[in-house]
Amino acid sequence: MTLVGPSGPWQSVARSVGLTAPDGTVAATIFAEMSALAVRTGAINLGQGFPDVDGPDSVKEAAVAAIRAGRNQYAPGDGIPELREAVAAHQQRRYGMTLDPATEVLVSTGATEGIAASILALVSPGDEVITLEPFYDVHAACVALAGATQVTAPLVPRDGAFRLDVAALRAAASPRTRMIILNTPHNPTGAVLTRAELEAIAAVARERDAIVVTDEVYEHLVFDDVAHLPIATLPGMRERTLTVSSSGKTFSFTGWKIGWVCGPADLITAVRTVKQFLTFTSGAPFQPAIAGVLGDDDVPRALAASLAGRRDLVCDGLTAAGFDVAVPAGTYFVTADASSLGFDDGVDLCRRLPELAGVVAVPVSAFCTPGSPTWESLRSWVRFTFVKERATLEEGMRRLSGLRARR
Ligand code: GLN
Repeated sequence: MTLVGPSGPWQSVARSVGLTAPDGTVAATIFAEMSALAVRTGAINLGQGFPDVDGPDSVKEAAVAAIRAGRNQYAPGDGIPELREAVAAHQQRRYGMTLDPATEVLVSTGATEGIAASILALVSPGDEVITLEPFYDVHAACVALAGATQVTAPLVPRDGAFRLDVAALRAAASPRTRMIILNTPHNPTGAVLTRAELEAIAAVARERDAIVVTDEVYEHLVFDDVAHLPIATLPGMRERTLTVSSSGKTFSFTGWKIGWVCGPADLITAVRTVKQFLTFTSGAPFQPAIAGVLGDDDVPRALAASLAGRRDLVCDGLTAAGFDVAVPAGTYFVTADASSLGFDDGVDLCRRLPELAGVVAVPVSAFCTPGSPTWESLRSWVRFTFVKERATLEEGMRRLSGLRARR
């Protein structure tokens, strides 16, 4: 399809994540479309994942104090030393990873810029990059921007939860595999990759001498007895892995855009070289505020405990409404199959959901390559966020309970 407008790499970006309309125009991201729909219709927004309660006041006050103290000019391109040290201490304390904060930690404008800079720095046209499928849209968009080819390894629903298809992952690898991008805990499915799944990915990476970029922004938000395991801690992986995370989800400040990338000095040098020409630097007064709270595991622990209860509320509500639910072990999200309710097309359902039930959700197919087998098999799936106050979720579930009757 020809896109209307000047030719350029933006067109492959649009195609990679299905933002092209039949008339050749280009749409905004599915998150933007669905949030606008919620505003327009007054529906409850369970689409875009952002908390409706901010993080701690003390952290806000620290940012205010930093502004008043004059931390308003460029921060160093690498990030302020206190934050790089806090990130290194966090990785050591939680995962036993030892990092040199001077050369192995880079602060970025949210995880998004860290992922973008990693891909643009290390992937060339003609390379193949393996992502999971469904995938977070940024992963596919940046692979397209780099002129590389995306190959996917599906996560498939099995016994009420999504698991990596390890055989498909192995089949996706080739001598041209330059990078593997993973995401755990996983948006949109809420899967937390198991040690066996991570070992399978690590084996492919070692065999193909591929770099791994791992998007771990929901690292603290895991439920029940599930543990998050960074792939960089597996044998032979430290030297080939860029671990990307951020403070947005952990401390409920998604708009502050304070993220980071950790990895061996040679990979970080490559990423820094590109990153300094993207934003150069951002968030000067927010960096000290996050540096001050990153040692506090109680805030994310309390959030995870409360989210686990809200996950249950939404899983129960969706099941009662007639959806087939895949129970998430982490993240902000639950995915559910609407085919049991007679809806085969998640995009169509999400566009009509405000009118049918006064609720907004996001179709899972938006996280798939348009037309791929995974896209096809997950067409009737939709994603709901549960990072909203309980009363809002209860009202959302009450509204959805009448959906079957309105089919
Ligand atoms: N991470 C958010 C989500 O998955 C979306 C962020 C965005 O709007 N790009 O809902």
